Amino acid sequence: MRITLRSLREEPDMPSWGSLRAHGRDTSAVSPRSETGVSEAGLGLLAPLRGDPAHSAIFTDIDGTLAPIADRPEHAGVPARATQLLEALGERFGLVGCVSGRRALEARRMVGAEGIAYAGNHGLELLLPGDREPRLDPSIQGHEDRAARFVATLGDDALADTGLRLEDKGPIQALHWRGAKDEGSAEARAHEIAAAAGRSGLEPHWGRKVLELRPVGGGGKGAAVAALLAADGLRAAVYAGDDRTDLDAFRRLRELCSEGSLDLAVCIGVSSPEGPMELGEEGDVSVDGPAGWLEVLDSLAQ
Ligand SMILES: [Mg+2]
Repeated sequence: MRITLRSLREEPDMPSWGSLRAHGRDTSAVSPRSETGVSEAGLGLLAPLRGDPAHSAIFTDIDGTLAPIADRPEHAGVPARATQLLEALGERFGLVGCVSGRRALEARRMVGAEGIAYAGNHGLELLLPGDREPRLDPSIQGHEDRAARFVATLGDDALADTGLRLEDKGPIQALHWRGAKDEGSAEARAHEIAAAAGRSGLEPHWGRKVLELRPVGGGGKGAAVAALLAADGLRAAVYAGDDRTDLDAFRRLRELCSEGSLDLAVCIGVSSPEGPMELGEEGDVSVDGPAGWLEVLDSLAQ
């Protein structure tokens, strides 16, 4: 089977990826320019994980990475093949985890793979295999309802009038404008709300056509990944994501390499027309959308 790892450098309108690099391993001699060459390079980066699955971890974001982006979050779905692969990989690899902005229980229901870990709400919730309820990041205990209380002051009708759609994620409140009649004005209102939320002691985070208001505290997806890795003495990890929040995980994995806690981290950017530039600058490898990442998962399962 042909794996289509390739560099965004081949796309004239996309930002450069720079040279391929895997932290903990020197791949600077590998040229990213040839599609075939880059594909081989991408496979080469993942070879240590395939060679020692028991001491390797696979992390994946869900929306935009496993599941194609949909007009509304509730319309998104994970392909059955992805679920099968994650379950199979969970049996062979030391750790497989889905790391999502969705709530952990919703992430598990959506992906449907048993025997793997789920980190939800951008790392504020952890759901380990066998857990019935998620564990909440201790640093936000006591202010779990702060974002909800702030959003309640905005008024449902006022939000709807501006085209913003509220998603209640417990400690995180998300405002979406994808599909709004006037996405530009809805986004402008979101910026005003973000400023007010900041003055109220919340942290505004921006995703793909969504503003999330979070309580202060919590270490994001990076902290969740580090927490999951700490339990198992794993030595290598791959992480795939499509958005800014995934950069937390990229950076934390590299820190773990620098600290000597990991030997190898491979960060995969799942490209899309609306993906952030930083993903290209900070990733080691690019794949074309969820279909590309699925092929990589398939190769890891061989
Ligand atoms: Mg995503």
